[in-house]
Amino acid sequence: MPAEVLQQAAAEMLDWHGSGMSVMEMSHRGQEFGVILKNAEADLRELLCVPAHFRILFMQGGGLAENAIVPLNLSRGETVDFVVTGSWSQKSLKEARRYCAARVAASNEADHHTSLPAPASWQLDRGARYVHLCSNETINGVEVHELPDLKALGSDAPLVIDFSSHVASRPVDWSRVGLAFGGAQKNLGPAGLTLVVVREDLLGHALQACPSAFDYKTVADNHSMYNTPPTFAIYMAGLTFQWLKRQTEGGLSGVAAMEARNITKAQLLYDFIDQSAFYSNKVAKDCRSRMNVPFFLRDESRNEAFLAGAKAAGLLQLKGHKSVGGMRASLYNAMPIEGVRALVDYMRQFEQTQV
Ligand SMILES: *Cc1c(COP(=O)(O)O)cnc(C)c1O
Repeated sequence: MPAEVLQQAAAEMLDWHGSGMSVMEMSHRGQEFGVILKNAEADLRELLCVPAHFRILFMQGGGLAENAIVPLNLSRGETVDFVVTGSWSQKSLKEARRYCAARVAASNEADHHTSLPAPASWQLDRGARYVHLCSNETINGVEVHELPDLKALGSDAPLVIDFSSHVASRPVDWSRVGLAFGGAQKNLGPAGLTLVVVREDLLGHALQACPSAFDYKTVADNHSMYNTPPTFAIYMAGLTFQWLKRQTEGGLSGVAAMEARNITKAQLLYDFIDQSAFYSNKVAKDCRSRMNVPFFLRDESRNEAFLAGAKAAGLLQLKGHKSVGGMRASLYNAMPIEGVRALVDYMRQFEQTQV
């Protein structure tokens, strides 16, 4: 979270804008929260340039719930295509199989999720109801920098992207997307809020078994108020959207500014890793994630010492996911360039003590 956002939330915690209430104490149907929700949605639409024929839904359940909610709404129990690029898309595939005929159109399993299968090589099914792609594999550090144009690949299916871990870190080309979903907790706000941006024509096809609270049409028709939405998380995300709108970088603003800053941050770390004989990153250069940088020490017996020294230097949460091992630096929007410089300085220093 950006420190400015946390400070503003702290200042408004007991009394939001003279209402005499904390946001947590408001009725979700009251006028005050209505303003918070409306502004959050409008700011997000502006930031991500979401076209008018897409609906923005504020839901609950996180990315994992969406792994079921998407097939419940879009699959009609029929065939869907998955591009498997790492742990998250693997999980999405497994969950979808409970509801529809989910097939693997492409996979990078053979090289341990360190590359991106070229879209031209995907074996797409012509009748697929949608194509699932995780546009940033948080655990494996694989990012799809340019979304595929499915039409050009001979498919009319809508593209579904899981953008949990890169939302608002770069612009989205909505002409190539049917639905995007993501948990808020990486780049937007606290856990508990799930964002869904869905093209209007995809609404209204949910399976009979789909819970009403998870039927996109029901949620859209009720402006994310069919049931009580995660009010405090929406408020915090709304503060983050305002923070994002204020960001500038080299003549750019908003999400474009974040993208420029994120490219610089990631480059700094990857360049250092690549010139070092002590650290390595195994992901192909054309699909390295700007948000999540997994890396390894050549001498893995030094992992614990590396983490302990990092912690002492104020560099936290660097241990890699257990399925990959090694280290992982997450450089989400709120991480300033100074944080990346501090990490690189520490890594250089640690390397020098090892010779
Ligand atoms: C973090 C993450 C999720 C999270 O799912 P939750 O149910 O919110 O824990 C899903 N997909 C991706 C790509 C993620 O990075």
